Amino acid sequence: MGTQASADPATGADLAVVIGLEVHVQLETDTKIFCGCSTTPAGDEAPNSRTCPVCLGLPGALPVVNEAAVEAAVRVGKALDADIAPETRFHRKNYFYPDLPKNFQISQYDAPVCRDGRLAVSVEGERREVAVRRAHLEEDPGSVVHEGGSIDTAEYTLVDYNRAGTPLMEIVTEPDFRAPAETRAFLAKLEEVLEYLGVFDGERDGSLRVDANVSLVPAEEMAADGSVDDAALADANRTEVKNISSHRGAERALAYEVTRQRNAVERGRVVEQETRHWDESRGITVSMRAKEEEKDYRYFGEADIPPLRVADWRDRLSIPELPDARRERFREEYGLDGEAAAKLTSTKQVADFYERAAADFDPGLAATWVADVLLGELNYRDMTVAAVADRLDEVRELIRLVDAGEITRKNAEETVLRAMLDEGVDPETVVERESLGPADEDEVAVAVREAVDENPGAVSDYHDGEDGALNYLVGQVMAATGGAADPGTVNERLRAELGGESGAD
Ligand code: ADP
Ligand code: MG
Ligand code: ZN
Repeated sequence: MGTQASADPATGADLAVVIGLEVHVQLETDTKIFCGCSTTPAGDEAPNSRTCPVCLGLPGALPVVNEAAVEAAVRVGKALDADIAPETRFHRKNYFYPDLPKNFQISQYDAPVCRDGRLAVSVEGERREVAVRRAHLEEDPGSVVHEGGSIDTAEYTLVDYNRAGTPLMEIVTEPDFRAPAETRAFLAKLEEVLEYLGVFDGERDGSLRVDANVSLVPAEEMAADGSVDDAALADANRTEVKNISSHRGAERALAYEVTRQRNAVERGRVVEQETRHWDESRGITVSMRAKEEEKDYRYFGEADIPPLRVADWRDRLSIPELPDARRERFREEYGLDGEAAAKLTSTKQVADFYERAAADFDPGLAATWVADVLLGELNYRDMTVAAVADRLDEVRELIRLVDAGEITRKNAEETVLRAMLDEGVDPETVVERESLGPADEDEVAVAVREAVDENPGAVSDYHDGEDGALNYLVGQVMAATGGAADPGTVNERLRAELGGESGAD
């Protein structure tokens, strides 16, 4: 169904999918965008406790722009390789809803902070560039709580303005996506970049909200490079799907919507231009209303906020090395393969931790320790690298112990690291407590003699040149020394002890 080609019965033409996104992300600032109220999550805090005359929209209260929010927006613009407006302005977007106390939202219109950016994504191994038309700042409304159910079953509805005035950035793409899966890759990449910039927290509830526009155009309107003529885009009836809050949700909602539109066309019906609601639990989109148009919002300039000259902020504000560049550098500088480089740059915290932990060690060994062992053990405990961020010295000591051959990898992983994470103890303490240090020569010598004395069968097999007999004896010695002996040394000692030739070599 969904992905198969279908044809418009009127023209017989095949149809291609066109998708554009409007992504709202919450910017991480301490205070709201136009007042000094805190943006920290309310938790058990009372509703409407983080409010003031400005974010409650009381008459006469004047907004003051939060510089940190504008800085974050400029950084996002730099990361998206966008043009930063020489002078950016705010506008009022008028509509009525109980969560919007002023009856308008302060947003941006014809002078957004950023225009004409791009973000490269990789979809099934293929690199695609998605054009970003604009990215602007706006305030979040409050939240309505339908007590005891949904909007149509609730007995009454409460309004909480704690969220009102939280800084948002709306990032609008060109209609450059040709399949639902591409939007998922884009959103994942966008979040990754925003987290590297330190302006976004994907774990925060409601920090990502997506409106997805989707239409079908005759395939013949699409050029070989995937571009679609502007007139064809304008002609296509599109739906705008709201209430998407995750990468996976975007892919699912769009897959549903593409199928629904194809079915409509195949049955000779017109796809209505409308706004639809994604119902996550039912996995369907539902018609909400005829699509609103720009003129419905009666945009006009926000006279209470002067234009901001931000042109030179582009040079003043620095951004960190971004994920793609860092991945590439990890491959070149440390000789890591693509998989290890990707794992170690999955978040900025992991990448920073790796680079600090790896200093002075073999980068490959440190990569194995951080990417495979440490991240695996953390993940198993539902922890992130943040849990060990201030224990860098201990992790370095652990890697050093293995690197120097003072403890075996197995003991380091299964005993020392686990105790470090579960009990909060440092590596030396575990090594001492569990006697994991290198076995001394005498202990190895005793274990070798015992292994030979107690296993006459294996000894005669060895002399008969049987494969595996020596390995068996090595295993006995390793067990007797609690895994502390060096297997290479044990091997040599056993050969010396057994004397004679082994045909097994
Ligand atoms: P509106 O004024 O209705 O909000 P815009 O031109 O601002 O429309 O575009 C809003 C979003 O719709 C953008 O993300 C854009 O990429 C997308 N879009 C535009 N045309 C199409 C289309 N034919 N099919 C799908 N998405 C589209
Ligand atoms: Mg729009
Ligand atoms: Zn406030």
